[in-house]
Amino acid sequence: MVAHVVTDIALDKVFDYAVPTGMAGDMAVGSRVKVPFGRREVLGYVVELSSDKPLSGLKSITEKVGREPLILPSLVALAKWMADYYLAPFETSLKTVLPNAVRKSKKEFGIERLCVVQRAEANEEELAAAKKRAPKQAEALLLLKKEGSLFIAETEKKFRISAAVWRALEKRGLAEIRAQHHERDPFAQAIFTPSLPLDLNEEQASALASITEEMGKPHPKPVLLYGVTGSGKTEIYLQAIAKCLEQGKGAIVLVPEIALTPQSVERFKSRFMSYNVSVAVLHSHLSDGERADEWRRIREGRARVVIGVRSAVFAPVRQLGILVVDEEHETSYKQQEAPRYHARDVAVMRGHIESAAVVLGSATPSMESFFNAKKGKYALETLACRVDSQKMPVMHIVDMRHEAMKAKGPPVLSRRLYDGIISRLEKKEQVMLFLNRRGFSSSVICMKCGYVALCPRCSVSLTYHRQHEKMLCHLCGHSAKAFSKCPECGDEGIRFAGLGTEKIEQTVCRLFPRACIRRMDSDTMTKKSAYETTLGEFKLGKIDILVGTQMIAKGLHFPNVTLVGVIYADMALHMPDFRASERVFQLLTQVAGRAGRGDVEGEVFVQSYTPFHSSIQFAKRHDYDGFYEDEIEFRAQLGYPPCRRIILLLFKSRSEEKVSFIVADALKHLVSALDGAAEVSGGVPAPIAKIEDFYRYHILIKTARMAEARSRLRAFLKSYKMPEEVSLSVDVDPVYLM
Ligand code: ADP
Ligand code: ZN
Repeated sequence: MVAHVVTDIALDKVFDYAVPTGMAGDMAVGSRVKVPFGRREVLGYVVELSSDKPLSGLKSITEKVGREPLILPSLVALAKWMADYYLAPFETSLKTVLPNAVRKSKKEFGIERLCVVQRAEANEEELAAAKKRAPKQAEALLLLKKEGSLFIAETEKKFRISAAVWRALEKRGLAEIRAQHHERDPFAQAIFTPSLPLDLNEEQASALASITEEMGKPHPKPVLLYGVTGSGKTEIYLQAIAKCLEQGKGAIVLVPEIALTPQSVERFKSRFMSYNVSVAVLHSHLSDGERADEWRRIREGRARVVIGVRSAVFAPVRQLGILVVDEEHETSYKQQEAPRYHARDVAVMRGHIESAAVVLGSATPSMESFFNAKKGKYALETLACRVDSQKMPVMHIVDMRHEAMKAKGPPVLSRRLYDGIISRLEKKEQVMLFLNRRGFSSSVICMKCGYVALCPRCSVSLTYHRQHEKMLCHLCGHSAKAFSKCPECGDEGIRFAGLGTEKIEQTVCRLFPRACIRRMDSDTMTKKSAYETTLGEFKLGKIDILVGTQMIAKGLHFPNVTLVGVIYADMALHMPDFRASERVFQLLTQVAGRAGRGDVEGEVFVQSYTPFHSSIQFAKRHDYDGFYEDEIEFRAQLGYPPCRRIILLLFKSRSEEKVSFIVADALKHLVSALDGAAEVSGGVPAPIAKIEDFYRYHILIKTARMAEARSRLRAFLKSYKMPEEVSLSVDVDPVYLM
């Protein structure tokens, strides 16, 4: 037998090793192995096995680590697809499917939490024979007879009886190795009351029926669940997962980090309590140890439902029945380092590999997913009404050009928004104000000489943060003391221009002195507990006005919030990104979804300097379909996704001269390498031309023949020699174009 092995050392290569006959029995795809490598010994994974006879001279695997494969075979297949699709090295891709702490652990996987129980009692003859042949086994049998059950890790420490001894006994049918069922649980202190499934309304019932129908098929089609905010999508996920559990299968639910609040975790835990199923939670604040614990719980089948962020798509759930991607349009599902995967697309592929149902949920589906649904690649299920037929909030678009004229300068709050807040505060209702930029003001400008404070290392202006009297670069974190005089001309007329959440907070505090006001952005929420405390207080009604960035825009459910203000809706429209309109539409719709989720009808004020922009107008009418039709035409005309696919190449170097030279050269060669399979453009500085002293250049590849373009590009990347000072990264289906 020959094993193809990928090693932990960064080499994009598969090596062949002979499998010694003694190991052949339990060697599997995904097994962790030790192999000779040069003069060293290194760890690796078996990625393929073949029954070929090893060529003479082929080196052998020296050791198999662990009882069961470390990586599930289906995840090896997924990693392989990912490496191929995202043009990443296979071993980088394999590393991605395992948490670091598990990968680095020298311990045999799972063993420290495994226990051994007696299966059958050895008779006297057997014992006597064992004493001669394998004295350790005999000792182990006697010990087990006395104790009934033991922790393997402890027998190793106390009695020097290793896991191998127990495994030998297990093979002879005398003992059984089992997972132990108590472990630390990050949510252990919380007390949940079991929740029962709700009676579904007609739309929900038909969506659930369609999902369960797919679940029964050998090749389920992904279901796009397009449901307005508050239409009860989560309840559908819960009931679909319950169906899986009944069939003995497991589930993975992906949510954006922001949505992974105790509120939503609680909903899952309390529902599955009645199924006696433990829910594993994978968020990015877990310590390495906690993460490894959760991983083992899942791998050993002790937690069958997983809820987590992006990388939870690789959770080692066996017998996976369903994958849910909530808020599937969220950009945080895209990983920004190699492999630059999109968790939604990986989920679809994993579903395909494991014949699991896939549900993509959103109130504002991405153009990509809706396009796939229209083409019949995904099944489409629509929830058009809010549960209990609550009305969608009224959207007021405030023309700020007008307001600026009246106020002789752009005001932070328009008169209409101000009046709206006053009347809500009088009724003891709550308000959320939203602006997607932290800090006090977005730039520091001298009114006399025109000097603008720029980051010395990046090509962006510094943001003024009043709280610490500092100017910060939001890209690299560079920080400088704020100045009161212009460093160029010495004039004192230095101005802080543009808006940030700090300034909103300050203005609102001045305008509504008796209201309790809190700000929520990554500056005030440096600790996870701060986030929970603030949300808790807001829920209890202790806070009247919550000011924040996108942190407050999504997923939160507060029945007493009746007014939402969007301070500056145009901000994202001016980004040099073909998805700018889509982002603004999504944002306004999501923000609007925060208003009026209780008994009182909600209203939304959208302040804008381009009030007639299509994103704003369609959002005002809650018209997703109209927006889609309008936008898809624009994408088709310019050959952007989803009509065509794109790949972005980013060249970086400390030397601008070198990078611009290489880019021009690469562009020329790429055009001929792609040979008409794609359109190549760019070769120019990226929108953000410099970050942390690295000059950045882009080449954009657009194609209608993705597979061909990718394979031609792969060949190009293999053969093209880059000088050391220039690095190149490849992003297939990029989400960030800056
Ligand atoms: P979404 O995920 O679409 O935003 P949720 O699933 O959070 O919506 O549902 C919004 C609220 O409606 C929740 O409080 C939920 O418990 C409730 N809800 C959902 N479905 C039903 C139903 N069929 N009957 C009664 N209440 C429901
Ligand atoms: Zn910087």
